Amino acid sequence: MDGKEYISVILPLKLEWEPCYRTSVGVCQGDRVRVMFANKEYVGVVDKVGITPEVELEKIREIISVETDLSSVLPEEIALWKQVAGYYLCSVGEVYKAAYPSIKTNMEQARADSRRKVCERREKAVEMVRKKIDRLQARLEKKLEDAESVRTGTKARTRLEEEIERLGKEIQTGQSALESAICNLNAAKEGMMIPPFSGSEDNITLSPAQIKAISEIEESFRRGRPALLHGVTGSGKTEIYIRLAMEALKKGRNVLYLVPEIALSRQLEERLHEHFQENLLIFHSGESVASRRNSAEMIRNSGSGNYIALSTRSGLFLPHHDLGLIIVDEEHDSSYKQDSPAPRYNGRDTALLMSRIHQGCNIILGSATPSLEAVYNASTGKYSLVRLTEKYHGEGDIEVEIVDTKAERRKRGMAGSFSRKLIDRIRTTLQEGGQILILRSRRAWSTSLQCEDCGEIARCPHCNVSLSLHRDKDTMICHYCGYSAAYTGHCVKCSGPLNGIGAGTQKIEEEAGRLFPDAVVARLDSDSSQEQKKIISDFAKGEINILIGTQIIGKGFDFSNIGLVAVIAADAMLSIHDFRADEKALHLLEQFRGRCGRRGKKGMFMIQTSQPEHPVYDSLKNMAGEDFTKSLLAERQDFGFPPYSRIIEITIRDRFEDRAGRMALWLAERFAGFNITGPYKPSVDRIADQHIQKIRICLPKDRTLMEKKRRIREIISGFEKSKKYDDHITVDVDPA
Ligand code: ADP
Ligand code: ZN
Ligand code: ZN
Repeated sequence: MDGKEYISVILPLKLEWEPCYRTSVGVCQGDRVRVMFANKEYVGVVDKVGITPEVELEKIREIISVETDLSSVLPEEIALWKQVAGYYLCSVGEVYKAAYPSIKTNMEQARADSRRKVCERREKAVEMVRKKIDRLQARLEKKLEDAESVRTGTKARTRLEEEIERLGKEIQTGQSALESAICNLNAAKEGMMIPPFSGSEDNITLSPAQIKAISEIEESFRRGRPALLHGVTGSGKTEIYIRLAMEALKKGRNVLYLVPEIALSRQLEERLHEHFQENLLIFHSGESVASRRNSAEMIRNSGSGNYIALSTRSGLFLPHHDLGLIIVDEEHDSSYKQDSPAPRYNGRDTALLMSRIHQGCNIILGSATPSLEAVYNASTGKYSLVRLTEKYHGEGDIEVEIVDTKAERRKRGMAGSFSRKLIDRIRTTLQEGGQILILRSRRAWSTSLQCEDCGEIARCPHCNVSLSLHRDKDTMICHYCGYSAAYTGHCVKCSGPLNGIGAGTQKIEEEAGRLFPDAVVARLDSDSSQEQKKIISDFAKGEINILIGTQIIGKGFDFSNIGLVAVIAADAMLSIHDFRADEKALHLLEQFRGRCGRRGKKGMFMIQTSQPEHPVYDSLKNMAGEDFTKSLLAERQDFGFPPYSRIIEITIRDRFEDRAGRMALWLAERFAGFNITGPYKPSVDRIADQHIQKIRICLPKDRTLMEKKRRIREIISGFEKSKKYDDHITVDVDPA
């Protein structure tokens, strides 16, 4: 074929197929090539080589260039992209784009460029020193020759001898300069390398319960099954992960340690660093750009049995190789799910796909409150369930008290957001020198504003939601689109006075400051993001007595002096229109409970709610979490919800309300024969001037699943094409 080869290329686009190109230079799968597509230039990834084109040869374009400066993509990476695309119904190109965002490509390029320049400069330096030495050497030889013919003792001879000595010294200096120039050059060539794992013996003796758990986990691995480690907070799960990771490294395999969010994992970082030092690489969006770039580069350059990468879900798309173990910490956490853009993937489930791509790669999922999906998979034998039932430092007593705020209000037992019972508890805890965490799931000062005269609620002009009042900035803010307006205190309709309804974290902070004037009160939520680290470290040092916050204080806080944890207006967590609401509420409350009573200390967990009869509280109180899980599972089975089925959620967004409705109806018609709900408007049906319609498809988990998913994708792309309705429809598989 005229010395030309035909290849297919993955482009960073929402494209159902891989375009074909021609090349006269040899390329392999994974090489990155610059190509033209629809009049634009892209850096793509070579997928198949030596293909037989399906279109006329004249129509096939030549690639522009091979990007030799960019490292090649590994076969494991491409395999993962394909699996993710298949599972989450998006294009391989969209996954490529997420894995190699253009900024990263540019930086990689810049990095490669600058490294190449450094190498070139250093090569030149070596060359120059070498030439200089050669010149000196030549002169020295000449002088030595001259000296032969000159009689000793003469003036000329002495001059020559002096000259020879000087040259000799200069050559010596040159030679040591050459040595260091070569050294520099090699260093530049090697780039950054991780030293091999030294396998330092850790001095931690595992408890009998941990030893038993490890042997069960290893048994599960031997059978090629994922292990689900279910252990209460503080039972020593992390210690088990560390041990397993060491074993994997010693066997010459690399390790990936996934966490749902990195914000609060400093403690974990430090703990891992103690064991793994330079072999620990940290990768997440909170790290500086440079440091992330380093991690990716180091992972690519590293050998096997070399690294343990601690990262959030995006770290799944690093150039991993020789993976022997993946740890998914807090597997139940919904932060593992990416909402937008595509791929709308779940980090835990993608890790499971990944473990099957890397040969002999084991995977362990861990949680104090496993997801219903995981419990279900353990019950069917897909995972092996391993339990750790006791806290390592002994069980601290945690008393749970549910405060009925409706009843308290009748008895005048409430002071603002706080019940008298909670106030008393806080006082006692402060007197005992204990610290206090207070959870309120809504930020801002008040979550909405209502006119006293006409009842009008202040709403976002772009979304169908009420505006929250942020007192610190005297602004009303939309938590959906970020719209903000100055707070005047008056109704836009009738100028009547506005009243805040629903106290958010800011107001609770203010109330706490007034109720407990001698205590140091602080707040931690996404509004305090800049100071988050400082607030956490102050709390760790005991400089803060009462910390008020949103969900972020519910996770991963490992402090030994917390005597009381409390939830204000817990109802907000239960009333979400979501079949997973109860499961999520239970997880959050269980996790939050684990924050106190650590190190065998007695603790107290107080929940203020207006629905004290809700089964979630019963389950918390009676420690019968397992029964509650069982009843939730039974409920899901009755309704045919996940994990007994798979849900695919289709969202239609449009500036025009009627068109959104019409399109949704037409699209729904094409799903005749499927089990669908909708189209319906979600509870927030307009965000950022886009009207929203949803369709939910429920698929049975059987052999037809893959085929049906493919069919759904075809229907949607056919619909987009026939109606010229691109960029309005998104598909979410396993919505969180
Ligand atoms: P989890 O990850 O389940 O919350 P951790 O692994 O953090 O639990 O363990 C809880 C506490 O017990 C930590 O302070 C940890 O250092 C300690 N710990 C766990 N296992 C051991 C062990 N084998 N030897 C000494 N301390 C341990
Ligand atoms: Zn009004
Ligand atoms: Zn808005």
